[in-house]
Amino acid sequence: MNTVGILGGGQLARMLALAGAPLGLRFLVLDSVADACAGQFAPLLHADYTDHDALARFAARVDVATFDFENVPATSAQWLAQRVPVFPNPRALAVAQDRLAEKSLFRELGIPVPAFADIATRADLDAAIARIGTPCILKTRRLGYDGKGQFRIGAGIGNRESGIGKGDVDAAWAALGAQAGTVGLILEAFVPFQREISVVVARARDGEFRAWPLTENWHEHGILAASLAPATVAADIAETAVAYARAVAQSLDYVGVFALELFLADGQLLANEMAPRVHNSGHWTIEGAETSQFENHLRAVLGLPLGSTRMVGHACMLNWIGQLPDAHGVLADPCGHWHDYGKSPRAGRKVGHATLRADRPAELADSLRRVGDALDRRRQVGPVIARLDAYTAS
Ligand code: AMP
Repeated sequence: MNTVGILGGGQLARMLALAGAPLGLRFLVLDSVADACAGQFAPLLHADYTDHDALARFAARVDVATFDFENVPATSAQWLAQRVPVFPNPRALAVAQDRLAEKSLFRELGIPVPAFADIATRADLDAAIARIGTPCILKTRRLGYDGKGQFRIGAGIGNRESGIGKGDVDAAWAALGAQAGTVGLILEAFVPFQREISVVVARARDGEFRAWPLTENWHEHGILAASLAPATVAADIAETAVAYARAVAQSLDYVGVFALELFLADGQLLANEMAPRVHNSGHWTIEGAETSQFENHLRAVLGLPLGSTRMVGHACMLNWIGQLPDAHGVLADPCGHWHDYGKSPRAGRKVGHATLRADRPAELADSLRRVGDALDRRRQVGPVIARLDAYTAS
């Protein structure tokens, strides 16, 4: 019997614990929030991630440690790694926590990225804008997520996304400048992409590497709204994305699952960021793949053989943000699978998701129409249906 320790007790830890049950695993979750939702399925140690006494108690009770939350301080991960095996390793975590470090790594590995610059001062920002041009995006290097800590500079961008700051360079500096000396800032060229793609991959302790089929993602207000797998992209695009993820995995000696987020612009892939953990755009793998991202992450960190990442049909994941819709429309659908994270409703919070799985793209589109109507979510399902319809027609 192995006990897996998870730093962070949100829905990712909860789904890891659920995936670990058939493998006979036990879990211990550490979270700074007392009612973290993974605590409904696994013992929860309520403590700060920097509390060394708590980390020592955690280490004493687990055989291996991993993360559901990438912003665990890298120093805490290193401290823990001296006492218990930690996967992914703290260096991989540190790189993925810092947008500047990860983009620099991607560039070193020959993976195309949007033009970017490290910003420490207002003069740096002016110089970078002169070089990169507008539109562009100022982001915090660390601790940003779901569009938080981002400011869009220049005309005509981001008008649809009310949650993300936008304006001119003075407004950008007023919004984020104070963070230049704390979490750091990076300026990126704005990519006029046609699609957002992610590739979720697993690497085992012995270097075995597997990728799930590519996923296309749609965001609302910077938060993932829908994912479609497999993405309807050309085979060479899919191969390139997997090759990029493999290069990142090898260079970081990564063990576990991670997601590489990419933009597809004019037929070229550009890397945006990596998430050093199981990822929201891989939730569809629970029903849509032979082995889920959660199970393969556990297999990887425990040194077990990885399971097949083959798709089982076509899948679409719909995220529930803020509050759950009525479950009946999904439960009553022959393609529907419902996931309630057991969280209380709150604006902007991921409280659950649904996965619709069908054997054929046209069948998946029909299911999306039914569910979109039943749940009054036509806007959320609309772009996915359009993509499937175009694919079926081609
Ligand atoms: P991120 O937190 O970097 O994933 O950014 C959140 C969302 O903002 C992404 O999913 C994109 O929709 C958008 N975004 C981020 N960076 C860029 C960029 N350089 N160009 C265009 N859109 C971007």
